[in-house]
Amino acid sequence: MSLKVAKFGGSSVADAIQLAKVKKIVDHDPARRYVVVSAPGKRFDGDNKMTDLLYLCRTHIEHNVPYDQVFQVICDRFRAMELNLGVKVDLDSEFDTIRKNLDEGAGPDYIASRGEYLNALLTASYLGFDFVDTAGLVRFDEKGRLMDEETDKALREELEKHENAVLPGFYGTTPDGKVKTFSRGGSDITGSLVAKAVRADVYENWTDVPGFLVADPRIVNNPEPIETISYQELRELSYMGASVLHEDAIYPVRTVDIPINIRNTNDPQHPGTTIVSEASPKDGRIITGIAGSKGFTVVALYKNMMSSERGFVRRTLGIFEDLGIKFEHLPSGIDTLSIVISNKELGDRLPELLEEIERRMNPDSIEVSDDIALIATVGWGMARRTGVSARLFGALAEAEVNIRMIDQGSSEMNIIVGVHNKDFEKAIRAIYEAFQEN
Ligand code: ASP
Repeated sequence: MSLKVAKFGGSSVADAIQLAKVKKIVDHDPARRYVVVSAPGKRFDGDNKMTDLLYLCRTHIEHNVPYDQVFQVICDRFRAMELNLGVKVDLDSEFDTIRKNLDEGAGPDYIASRGEYLNALLTASYLGFDFVDTAGLVRFDEKGRLMDEETDKALREELEKHENAVLPGFYGTTPDGKVKTFSRGGSDITGSLVAKAVRADVYENWTDVPGFLVADPRIVNNPEPIETISYQELRELSYMGASVLHEDAIYPVRTVDIPINIRNTNDPQHPGTTIVSEASPKDGRIITGIAGSKGFTVVALYKNMMSSERGFVRRTLGIFEDLGIKFEHLPSGIDTLSIVISNKELGDRLPELLEEIERRMNPDSIEVSDDIALIATVGWGMARRTGVSARLFGALAEAEVNIRMIDQGSSEMNIIVGVHNKDFEKAIRAIYEAFQEN
C-alpha cells in the first residue's frame, strides 16, 4: 500500500472547524499515516498567528513587562479548540510547564515551538493517532545546523514503531537538549524530513491555496494553475518571490525523489500542484511560471577593454566579499559588468560600495539604477524552442516596457529581465499574455 505524509499549514489547523476538514482528508485515505502540523494560524483577516503570540510573550519578558495577558489569549485559544474538538488533553499541566520554563529563562525558540507542540497533541488525540514529539528526533548540531543523516535515522527508527502518528513541525533539538526552530514557515521542512525518513510515496503539503499559479493572481486576472513543476523550476520561481512552500523544504525529499503535492485543505478535490524531479510539460507548454519582485539596484561598470583585463570581475566581486554585501545576478558584456543587488541587502551602504569600486577598479564610468524590479520567466520548455526570447522581448516592447537588464541562466530554463519598478505589473501581464495562446 502506498504511504503518504501529510503536512497541514497554519490556516489548515487554525481552529476546530479547520481541523474537522483535516480529519476528513486524513480519514479519506489510509495511506496518510503520518501527519505534521503547524501552529494554529490566522482564522480571519486581522487575526494573530499563534506563533506570533508566543514570540510576543518572550518579547514581554525581555522588556520586563508582565506577559500574563498574552499568555491567557494563547491558553484560551487552545482550550476552545480542545472543547470544540471534543478531546481531552491535559492542557493545564502543559501550560504550567511552559510558564515555569519561561520564568526560568527558556529562549525564544522554545516558546515559539509550543504552538506546534500543543497543536500536535490536540490533533493526535482528535485523529486517534499517536503523538510523536520531534524534540530529540529532528537534530541540530551545536551551531544550530540541521544534521540530516542523524535526523533521518532517528525519525525512521521512531516512526517504525507507530502505525499512525502526528508530529509537530518547525522544531527539533540541539545536542544539549535545547529546542531549536527552523526559520519561519519551517514546518514544511519537518514534513519533508518525515516524508524522506519513512520513504513516503508522496509528501502532501496542505495549505489554503490550490498550489502554484502561472503568475501572481494579484497581478494577472485568473492565472492558470501549474499542474506539475520540476524542483529546479520551483526553486527559480521561489527565489524570485513565488512563495507557497519554505525553500528548504525541497531538499530532503528531492534527494530521494519523492514528489511534493501542494493541496488546498478548503478544496480537497482539487489536484493542486505536483513538484517532481523531471518536468514533463504538457504538450505545447513553453513556460511554467512567471515571478518577480521589486526593490533591486543595478550597479553597471564600464571600462574600455575590460574583457582583456585579467581578474577584473574577480577583483570587483572581491569588493563585495570584503564589504560583506551579497549580490543576486551578474550580467556582463565585453566592456561592461552589471551587478544586481537587492535593496534590502544594500541598506544604506551604496556610497561606501561605490567609493570602493571607484578606488579599486578605476572604471571609466559607473551607472546606478536603484528602482529596478526583476522578473523571471521560467520553464524547461524554453530550452527546446526557438523564438522564445523574441516573443518575450517583443511583448515587452509592445507594452512599452523599457528593459534595463537581461540575464539568461545557462540552463536556458529562465530568462530574467530587469525593468523599472513602475513597469513591474505591466511587464508581468505582457509576458503572461504573450505565452497564453499556447
Ligand atoms: N508556526 C511557524 C510559523 O508561523 C512555522 C510554520 O507554520 O511552518 O512560522
